[in-house]
Amino acid sequence: MRPPSAAAAKDARMFREPRMFREPKVNLSPKVADEVKHSTCYMCACRCGVKVHIRDGKIRYIEGNRNHPVNKGVLCGKGSSGIMQHYSPARLHKPLKRVGERGAGEFVEIEWEEAMELARRRLDRIRRTDPKQFAFFTGRDQSQSLTGWWAMQFGTLNYAAHGGLCSVNMAAAGLYTIGGSFWEFGEPDWERAKYLLLFGVAEDHDSNPIKIGLGKMKARGAKVVSINPIRTGYSAIADEWIGLRPGTDGLFVLSLVHELINADAVDLDFLVRYCNAGWLVVQAPGEADHGLFARDADGEPLSYDKRASAFVNAKAADIAPAIVGEFILPDGRKAVPVFQLIAARYMDAAYAPAAVAPVCGVEASVIRRIAAEIAEIAFEQPIELDVAWTDWAGRTHDKIVGRPVAMHAMRGISAHSNGFQTCRAIHLLQCLIGAIECPGGFRFKPPFPKPIPPAQKPAGKTSAPMTPLPGMPLGFTSGPEDLLVDADGLPLRIDKAYSWEAPIAAHGLMHMVIANAWAGDPYKIDTLMLYMANMSWNSAMNTARTMEMLADKDASGEYKIPYIIYSDAYASEMVAYADLVLPDTTYLERWDCISLLDRPICDADGVADAIRQPVLAPDRDVRAFQSVLLDLGARLKLPGMTNEDGTPKYPGLYPDYLVNHERSPGIGPLAGWRGADGDADADGRGAVNPKQLDAYVANQCFWRHELAEHEKFYKFANKAYLDFAVRMGFISKAEPIVLQLYSEPLQKFRLAAEGHGPVQPPQDMRERLVSAFDPLPIWYAPYEEAAIDRKAFPLHALTQRPMIMYHSWGSQNAWLRQILGRNKLYIATAKAHQLGLEDDDWARVTSHNGSIKVQIQTMDGLNPDTVWTWNAIGKRAGAWNLDPEAPEARQGFLLNHLISERLPDPSPRSNSDPITGQAAWFDLCVRIEKCAPDEATSTPQFPALPRLAGLSPAPDINQYGADLSERRRGAK
Ligand code: SF4
Repeated sequence: MRPPSAAAAKDARMFREPRMFREPKVNLSPKVADEVKHSTCYMCACRCGVKVHIRDGKIRYIEGNRNHPVNKGVLCGKGSSGIMQHYSPARLHKPLKRVGERGAGEFVEIEWEEAMELARRRLDRIRRTDPKQFAFFTGRDQSQSLTGWWAMQFGTLNYAAHGGLCSVNMAAAGLYTIGGSFWEFGEPDWERAKYLLLFGVAEDHDSNPIKIGLGKMKARGAKVVSINPIRTGYSAIADEWIGLRPGTDGLFVLSLVHELINADAVDLDFLVRYCNAGWLVVQAPGEADHGLFARDADGEPLSYDKRASAFVNAKAADIAPAIVGEFILPDGRKAVPVFQLIAARYMDAAYAPAAVAPVCGVEASVIRRIAAEIAEIAFEQPIELDVAWTDWAGRTHDKIVGRPVAMHAMRGISAHSNGFQTCRAIHLLQCLIGAIECPGGFRFKPPFPKPIPPAQKPAGKTSAPMTPLPGMPLGFTSGPEDLLVDADGLPLRIDKAYSWEAPIAAHGLMHMVIANAWAGDPYKIDTLMLYMANMSWNSAMNTARTMEMLADKDASGEYKIPYIIYSDAYASEMVAYADLVLPDTTYLERWDCISLLDRPICDADGVADAIRQPVLAPDRDVRAFQSVLLDLGARLKLPGMTNEDGTPKYPGLYPDYLVNHERSPGIGPLAGWRGADGDADADGRGAVNPKQLDAYVANQCFWRHELAEHEKFYKFANKAYLDFAVRMGFISKAEPIVLQLYSEPLQKFRLAAEGHGPVQPPQDMRERLVSAFDPLPIWYAPYEEAAIDRKAFPLHALTQRPMIMYHSWGSQNAWLRQILGRNKLYIATAKAHQLGLEDDDWARVTSHNGSIKVQIQTMDGLNPDTVWTWNAIGKRAGAWNLDPEAPEARQGFLLNHLISERLPDPSPRSNSDPITGQAAWFDLCVRIEKCAPDEATSTPQFPALPRLAGLSPAPDINQYGADLSERRRGAK
């Protein structure tokens, strides 16, 4: 008898061993979590709702919250990787005190009490003598309404967050033109837009909402056009990519304006009703009132009413203002309507597609076609909603008309020295076609729109020991009289915000703080406190020099920046330069607030805010920075944080503050469930509710109020919405907000530069101010490009953050590193071949400021005159508790070394937009040459930082979750 075949034997066993079916080895219904807690993601700035699954006291996984207004269940790769952020080997464990030389990374661990007393004693002395000697700057934190208020209570004007090195041009240009802006201020009407223009949008910002929105648009067959030198991310899925030359977006847009005006494709009704198109502008060259609005005795702007044949209040209802022509005012002065100036300027041949095409690197025919497509969609395919609404003057309208062309812009246009005017140009284009705050167009997210400019002025003209500032340090200037300058016109702030270097510096100039403090320009400071800001590395221009400045000493051996306090959750490069380190929690270990007072999560249809709750208790000796600030404030006896008897006002620290703090009567950090019993009528404005946080937790950590249909559009002139906005405390009066095509504040600064008025700029700044502060959008060549020899530096060099990373945190995250563990310099394939470069060649990249060695990668889909790389992938060896030989350190690199914080100029100004002070990261010009690989490392390299006190060696292979998986495999 032959032995059975192997297959027959297996079959026989199968029949003899049926138990394997009765007792499966695989648990088909594993217990996923012991508990699920809701909170808000912080892996980027979108603030999506998350459900955190916890098992055996550890995070098992993170899921998107389907009910959340921001992400509706969508969770991106960053959000999922929050687990690795929470369990990162780079987490700080305990307060640290420097013991070695600054920059050497030598610390000892200390107790919190000692740390708090070190900070208190230092800050108390400063506050008793000269509060501005304390400078407080924060990075991409989400508690700026707290930090700004804290600085105000301390009495220092030297406060700002990271907006000045991010996208303040976009924010400020919007606020000075339409009362809001893109991203957190507004959004495309994703549901109805038929055509979307994306300008300079990288994929790290507004990540999930844009992805969801683009998905909707593409499903409907709407056209998406991306204007961006680099075709990655959203540009890669656009229907049309226009890879223009960096820094020329404004000229491209103004050429579209030229085409539309010449074609009569303009929404005159919108311009007359909602914009200042009919306001009269005085024409008196050389005089102190040239370019200002003609005003009546009450200071109201004038228009010429064609029906009444008279000058009337331009803001009055039911007038028929002339928008072209020339008028002689009753006092004999000449004036013309704003639209007349617009038409005269942009119909000029200088803006014709053929003229701008060579500058922008875009064919004239493309510009003409895009203009025609915009006109076709806006005027031949309007949307009408049968929704009756009432305007500010009480006039009812039975329809809402939409021009379904939406636009969105971000840092790509913003981070240039012409970025403010470029953003204004985009808003002008939107207004001309009537595509603002209408169905299918750009829509405001409450609390926007705000009055133009917002009423809050920057405080700090005077400061005194032991005295809070009279207002918040950051605000909005309307003219030279609001500047923070001394009698000689010199800056009062350490970053020179609100000086003649940056008169509308709404977010400060964080990129100049270290350089100015080091130089003692305009004065020396004592203590610099930074939060979540990697200012010695990827957030610094001129990184190597910045590290030198941070560690530099004067002749007496004292550090030129005497004391640095730093708070972060992780061992970033900046930690090594601190004297005192206050370790923060991760975002999953603390209470937090996404407030309407700050950067809320509203959408165009509703008002919303949110909280974070501690999902797990910290397993280290760390504290939430917001609570540390309130504790420090109470120890310093700052007025807002101390009761009359000297006891802390918020003994329960940040969660106590979130519930009990009132910024003005009835208005606090959280808008939902206010009123003693959480009464719905008290949403937005109401008494303190001691159980408010419980209500948020019960509602999955967010609150949202849906606007009524008749409140949703034309918010700047919609009576129901304006009344609602007053009740919520968004605006003080239910008055219409007139969109400012022509900006009188800009003209006021310009007049001062021309020698008018009591507050005038220094002589050497006047020419630049006159040319930049044009009250109508203009384009000028970015400053670095204009100052250097373009033949020596013929290429533009850009950085952007990838979709999978946002903070510099992201590039130490064990899961995200597997996607992108090193960066290369991307170059257009044809350009590379011209230069004799192939993939993986090493190349030397040189700017007017320095030189780096990097490895290159060719790509198509790139403007031929541009190279680019991912930012903040390159790490300093030893930082973030990574292996000093990690690819991020040895092959990764930063372009920052090439970017100077100063312009290449004999008397250098900061490398910033002249209006807002926005850091001009993207003005960088370079040349590139093939070089030998040497040791196949990027340069420059810096001495490796030692592992910080208290940190354990990171595992070679991070196997987080393996034990949980094992359990899952085991039958139960
Ligand atoms: S988009 Fe941003 S906030 Fe939303 S899940 Fe991703 S990382 Fe988190």
